[in-house]
Amino acid sequence: MMAHRLSVPPVDNKPTGRALPYIPEPSSEHPENAAAPGACPVFRDCTETAPGHYDHCAHNRKVTEDDGTTPVLTAGMVALSGEDQAAIVYIRNAEFADAASVHAKTAELRRFLDEVDALAVRVFADHEARG
Ligand SMILES: [Zn+2]
Repeated sequence: MMAHRLSVPPVDNKPTGRALPYIPEPSSEHPENAAAPGACPVFRDCTETAPGHYDHCAHNRKVTEDDGTTPVLTAGMVALSGEDQAAIVYIRNAEFADAASVHAKTAELRRFLDEVDALAVRVFADHEARG
């Protein structure tokens, strides 16, 4: 298991004095990946909007209950400035430092969800059968 780290660190708005990072050209080949005006120039999934921000995050991936707000499962990304610049993707409270680790866990989740589907079929069939 990975050591737990806080997924949502306190916001540090202090300027670091570093040069602005490389700003990629919007991709015409994959327009769906092109940065929208005002979007983060470093991480295409970052939802921070302040110009020149150094701490990047997105906490906008979730499956909710039918109320549309109560989260069942959440996912997102964090990449901070400072000494620890590693980017992470998280699924709920589990953090992953590379795509392969994320893919291994999402594969496990897919298998798990198939098991839940099968469980649901058995439970409601047995419930119907007991009259
Ligand atoms: Zn950003």
